[in-house]
Amino acid sequence: MTSRSKNLSDIRGIQTRFLPKLKKLGIETVKDLLLYIPIRYEDFSKIYTIEDLIPNQEATITAEVLSIQSRNTWKRNLYLVEAELQDTTGTIRATWFNQPYIKNILAPGRRANFAGKVTQSKKTGEIYLSNPTYELVSEHMNHETRHTGRIIPIYKETKGLTSKGIRFLIQPALKEEIDIPDIIPNSIQKTLELPDVQTAIQTVHFPDTIEDALSAKRRFAFEDLFLLQIVTLRERMKIAAKKAHSIQTDISFIKSLLETLPFELTESQKRSLWEIIKDIEREFPMNRLLEGDVGSGKTVIAGIAALATSKSGFQSVLMAPTEILAQQHYRTLTTLFKEQEVNILLLTGSEARMRYDSDLESILTKSEAKKAIENGSASIIIGTHALIQKGITFKHLALVIVDEQHRFGVEQRATLEREKTFAPHFLSMTATPIPRTLSLTLFGDLDISLITELPKNRKPIITKAIPDTERTTAYNQIRAEIKKGRQAFVICPRIKPTETEGPLSAREEQMLSIKTVTEEYEKLSKHVFKEFAVGMVHGKLTPKEKEQIMKSFAKNEIQILIATSVVEVGVDIPNATIMMIEGADRFGLAQLHQFRGRVGRAEHQSYCFLFSQGNSDATKKRLKAIVEAKNGFELAEYDLRLRGPGEFLGTSQTGMPDIAMKAIQNPDLVKEARTLAYKTLKSNPTLSENSALKERLIQFEKEIHFE
Ligand code: ADP
Ligand code: MG
Repeated sequence: MTSRSKNLSDIRGIQTRFLPKLKKLGIETVKDLLLYIPIRYEDFSKIYTIEDLIPNQEATITAEVLSIQSRNTWKRNLYLVEAELQDTTGTIRATWFNQPYIKNILAPGRRANFAGKVTQSKKTGEIYLSNPTYELVSEHMNHETRHTGRIIPIYKETKGLTSKGIRFLIQPALKEEIDIPDIIPNSIQKTLELPDVQTAIQTVHFPDTIEDALSAKRRFAFEDLFLLQIVTLRERMKIAAKKAHSIQTDISFIKSLLETLPFELTESQKRSLWEIIKDIEREFPMNRLLEGDVGSGKTVIAGIAALATSKSGFQSVLMAPTEILAQQHYRTLTTLFKEQEVNILLLTGSEARMRYDSDLESILTKSEAKKAIENGSASIIIGTHALIQKGITFKHLALVIVDEQHRFGVEQRATLEREKTFAPHFLSMTATPIPRTLSLTLFGDLDISLITELPKNRKPIITKAIPDTERTTAYNQIRAEIKKGRQAFVICPRIKPTETEGPLSAREEQMLSIKTVTEEYEKLSKHVFKEFAVGMVHGKLTPKEKEQIMKSFAKNEIQILIATSVVEVGVDIPNATIMMIEGADRFGLAQLHQFRGRVGRAEHQSYCFLFSQGNSDATKKRLKAIVEAKNGFELAEYDLRLRGPGEFLGTSQTGMPDIAMKAIQNPDLVKEARTLAYKTLKSNPTLSENSALKERLIQFEKEIHFE
């Protein structure tokens, strides 16, 4: 058996009681253990003398134990071990909590290294070592120390297995004959000055210098980035090898269509549209992400691409994450294209309708709708994401547009690619601003079109965190806006006192102060704003009821809409100018930004008022971020720092955040990885010359499960 798959229990020095703990950390083989890369290092390489120690420094000393005692402290029921340590320059005290066995190890007269923080007592000013790592040493310092007197690796830990414990287990594993193949071609290692895998494994765990450690870490970071680039490039090549219907767009038609729109496209809308038109003209599938901040006008671009597709005699499908959005897209496209002879079909879980040619609309049964899709009479099909899960056959689908999703799943794609000969063109749309290093890493297989500016008619939204004492002032401002003809949203975190739109903990359930839609509706419709039409929408209503309310709101038959997060994404009511958010502390930053994006969608000055019960520092910081961030990009950077890439991108369940983190830390390496992956695949598309790389990729694809 090679040690690549060798069991951990076969290694002397690794006791079986550690196995379950290692497993918790994802370590099941010797190879896993060796490739368990430290998250950071502490430099204890210099041995200090006791007289040189200064408060707050992290340091290692070599000292003899003069005395050691233990006692229970009266405070917090802690068990304290205290030792008096001495070297040739002086003495110092060391303390440990709740580790009684230390008394047996550090018997008086023993010499050891002690590494830890030099702490200063607030009361007496005396300095002592608090909770130092210790390691017995023989008369002469040797190089075998693992925890002190050197650069110390710190690992991600688990209950009952500290970094120190992990170091204990890695040491014997490192002595095994390691048979880990080097998947990075030699030439690349040379170009990038990366250590080979054997060296890297040794130095990543027990480096002599910080430089060595970082160079080893860089190698492993490159390895992941390189593998990911190979995966995405191969995905790209696979798609490019497929055939797609070539959509020939009549440019003069597009020009005349743009004349009929109620606004002029922004420069970046035009550029994005052009990139899409060029892409769908080709005979292999487009795979493109259209990225633009909330309100930047992505829908119209997607709509024009769909119309062009239908002009060439093919079908397109536009998928939205919610029914409300699907209905809205249907309204938007039927209005924008009211002069066009195109059949637009809306199909959701609860209804089906088709707008024929220019202005004839009829309600269809589900099976009629399916038939219209099958026989090709429906040309632009709008529905929820769920739509495609249900066995629908298209006559000749050529374009798939997915709203509010930055990546379209491989499986979802497969359901739409039932037609063997031709694959559809794909366009996803997202308002999540993704920093370039990240998008190169995570979306290397996608081409990206960016809408970089908002339409000219927009004014920055005025955002304010408002204390409860000024609630009346805020209500008065809403009243004034409505009298001017505008409309307002009021967002509440919950539906009814006992019902929620998302899961809440027991403690949260008790916090009855959380605003609910139904209570706010009572209060605002019967008292505060009884002179206006007030409506309410939430997830418990039927799709028909939701549609009815959204429609009345769109027509300004309702002036104030009280809602849960059902209106979070995409909802487009250009006449609304006030977004009032109750319990703002209960929403994430990205969510708040999406809510705010529901206003400021036309020329009117708009406002976003944030109310919150929470008053912690974290809450204040977050609200400050949303008040100050001018656009989604600034907020995204903040959010990324705050929560890490996994939460930010919604990929926390996959292996991606870890790689994303590496990408953020090594932007230059991302570009290198991309170029080198391209070269590697170009010279050897099947990777037949590098079987180790080929084998590793299979494993890697499982680890990241790319969805
Ligand atoms: P998002 O990018 O958030 O999906 P939408 O596509 O819903 O944004 O567009 C937001 C609003 O802006 C819509 O009312 C749309 O009609 C309008 N709009 C789109 N493009 C322009 C433009 N170039 N000038 C003015 N208004 C525009
Ligand atoms: Mg949208």
